[in-house]
Amino acid sequence: MNWGSDQRDVKRGRFAPTPSGQLHLGNAWVALLSWLQIRQAGGQFVLRIEDVDRHRSRPEFAGQILADLRWLGLDWDEGPDVGGPHGSYTQSERDQLYAEALQHLERESRLYPCYCSRAEVKAAGPAYRGACRQLSAEERERKAGGKAPALRVALAEEAAEDFVVQRADGMVSYQLAVVVDDAAMGITDVLRGEDLLDATPKQVRLYEAFGAVPPVFITPRCSSTQKAANSRKAPVPSPSPPSATKAPAPSRSSAILRRSADITTAPSRCRQRN
Ligand SMILES: [Zn+2]
Repeated sequence: MNWGSDQRDVKRGRFAPTPSGQLHLGNAWVALLSWLQIRQAGGQFVLRIEDVDRHRSRPEFAGQILADLRWLGLDWDEGPDVGGPHGSYTQSERDQLYAEALQHLERESRLYPCYCSRAEVKAAGPAYRGACRQLSAEERERKAGGKAPALRVALAEEAAEDFVVQRADGMVSYQLAVVVDDAAMGITDVLRGEDLLDATPKQVRLYEAFGAVPPVFITPRCSSTQKAANSRKAPVPSPSPPSATKAPAPSRSSAILRRSADITTAPSRCRQRN
């Protein structure tokens, strides 16, 4: 597995939507800011579909999201529809890489099975303290008779949470898949919403466990008025019907600016995972 390179003379950013529904304004806002940041720096932009959670994802939403981003005027150098050297750009086709990453952690003795129920984890407090880390071989065997375990990564820091990297149903976690993909795709800059602030330290620790260099994480702040106006149902504005007038065709950049103005003035959903 290639964990990316330290050579960072070209910025590489990405937008990585989860196709569990239509593109929302918060998604579009983050996509636009990421794209502007990378394009302004003359970098490369990657589009990745994060459908690692098979239960939430639908292929038809993935297609619609790509179409909406194209309508907005964004483009990408690598992605599920244009290919590229780091493909596949769809997480459900990258299982082999995730398996290799888990094997790496296993070899480093950084994985252990966790048999705790959701209620037990919740009762333990905001951060899981590794109750299953110290189980004896007999205890593990006894618990394994009842249920399949999740796999957690063992972290050295006292205050850190040993978070799940593979769920009990066998699906790898969002945290693992994102780090593996961003590292393997050589992503240097990750711009995303405030809702992922607490994911960032976990992901940095995974980069460290893999011996990889983390990207620069950028979190644009939503204004309080935007937050107040947040609507989970606010979709991207629909394309206008073709105009019958013979006005000259707007340049691409002015069209993007006009559409981004639509987004920035509309109620925005800032808390969007990506
Ligand atoms: Zn446990």
